[in-house]
Amino acid sequence: MRKFKRTIAVCLCLVMVLLTVACQSKTKTVSSSNTGIFTGEAEGKSGAIKVEVTIDNAVIKGIKVIENHESDFTKNVFEQLPKDMVAANTSDVDVLAGATLTSNGIIKAVKDAITKSGIALTIKKTTQDNTKVANTSADIVIIGTGGAGLTAAIEATMEGSKVIVVEKNSFMGGNTNYATGGMNAAGTKYQAVKGIVDSPELFYKDTMIGGHNLNNPALLKTLTEESAGALYWLESLGADLSKVSRSGGQSADRIHTTKDGAAVGTHLMKIFSENVKKLKIDVRLNTKAVEILSEGNKATGIKVETSGGKQYEIKAKAVIVASGGFGANQEMVTKYKPDLKGFGTTNQPGATGDAFPMIEKFNAALVDMKQIQTHPTVVPVKNELITEGVRGEGAILVNRAGKRFINELETRDTVSKAILKQEGGKAFLVFDSGVVDRLAAIKKYKEAGLLTEAATVAQLGAKIKISPDVLVATMNKYNGYFKTKVDKEFSRRVMAGELSKGPFYAVEISPAIHHTMGGIKINTKAEVINNQNKVIEGLFAAGEVTGGIHGGNRIGGNAVADIVIYGRIAGKSAVSFIK
Ligand code: ADP
Repeated sequence: MRKFKRTIAVCLCLVMVLLTVACQSKTKTVSSSNTGIFTGEAEGKSGAIKVEVTIDNAVIKGIKVIENHESDFTKNVFEQLPKDMVAANTSDVDVLAGATLTSNGIIKAVKDAITKSGIALTIKKTTQDNTKVANTSADIVIIGTGGAGLTAAIEATMEGSKVIVVEKNSFMGGNTNYATGGMNAAGTKYQAVKGIVDSPELFYKDTMIGGHNLNNPALLKTLTEESAGALYWLESLGADLSKVSRSGGQSADRIHTTKDGAAVGTHLMKIFSENVKKLKIDVRLNTKAVEILSEGNKATGIKVETSGGKQYEIKAKAVIVASGGFGANQEMVTKYKPDLKGFGTTNQPGATGDAFPMIEKFNAALVDMKQIQTHPTVVPVKNELITEGVRGEGAILVNRAGKRFINELETRDTVSKAILKQEGGKAFLVFDSGVVDRLAAIKKYKEAGLLTEAATVAQLGAKIKISPDVLVATMNKYNGYFKTKVDKEFSRRVMAGELSKGPFYAVEISPAIHHTMGGIKINTKAEVINNQNKVIEGLFAAGEVTGGIHGGNRIGGNAVADIVIYGRIAGKSAVSFIK
């Protein structure tokens, strides 16, 4: 018994020793369990964002983004936010202006990695916005770094003026970043090579018809006459828009696109950025114009506010307003067009019409404010625009009952109205792999998880909760029309292909606010006009912030024409004014 007791005692001792060793070894590994590489994932604006977070002794040493499908122009966000998180040793940092969804995606992915690591991090205090600001001056100050602002900046700098451009977002480009189609220009050498007969007069006529005859004739005449020259000017900067094709509302092949099919906005912003760098133009990001300074009724500069809340003045001999439209400002949109209440928007979040309260003190005139264009095919909630090319390359639109209801290639306003009449105000774009093969843009939608895919049409119907039999019947009927080249129901003339190659795809869409055609009244010199029809001294405007060029409906390819042509004019006019 004593021996047994001793044995138990020895065993207990052994257990205690082992426990102590185990505890020690656990204590020892505390430091290494505070170290490691952890992965995290979250949804961004366009699909999954995956990150790898390196933590060393409870300190974030690095954040690597290993997967993302966000737009190229958010590159800054992927550089800046990880830096902020490393500096603060936490995922809890501020989102970057203009890129809330992308920022939140990165922040949540890093947070996910940190949570998975189980490591408690001590937040480091970072010195918030220690940048010094001071009043300054320039010959010309420009509000906005979209296509209009940068075109004006490049033109004015090339003519010898000292220019400062301010941008409230953390990156350049505004809505111009989202432009997918191309630029309309008439009478170009690229059209001539293809034997296309076109002229500024025909371009004018088409645009007037498309704009329901509401376009300002003088502004439109200048746009059409200057279009070819503007295209060559872009070319001189390094752009290549040499491919010509047909777009909605045109009676000649007139839209000039990139050779490799890249989105026109991405291409132009690359060229503009290169030229801004080359010309050493002073572009101030995270800097919001909050007031246009004045002496009497003359514009004399702007007051700005940094993202850290510091204000300063930029005095200038001329001010160019190129701050874009108000398509992301629900209050303003519904003020002018109440029936758009609750609509989504394809606009970048900064398209809030900031210029309008700022120009009030000059008694500036506004035109066509009610003219707001909706785009028919936008993914609800995610607000991702599905390009017209999907229908152009053959997709059909069906309602929840699985039936077609419109010629899918009608103008934007007609298709939008027809969709709104369907159940829930929504419809589905349905297409086959043939459409996917013909249109590079669809790859991006697939990666972003926007498409429902199925091997057969019946399976696709089941997945999107549409009667498989009805959907199959609709597709068979359409394919019959394709074969006979006659759409007996809706008279669709262009049917790019039979919808018969699996897998098949669907995406639910509804119309969303796309372009605000109305805005500040300007003349053909891009000078701002007041309510007494007089020019306001020193104040110029260009791009979507202005009104009158597009009338009641903007034709695809004319937004880029507008920003380049009137951006150049504003730059040139401001230079002549200060001289
Ligand atoms: P456009 O096509 O007319 O050039 P964009 O939408 O492409 O218009 O660009 C307008 C730019 O102006 C956007 O980048 C937007 O963030 C910027 N912006 C809007 N309001 C202000 C403001 N108050 N201060 C500085 N930048 C602004």
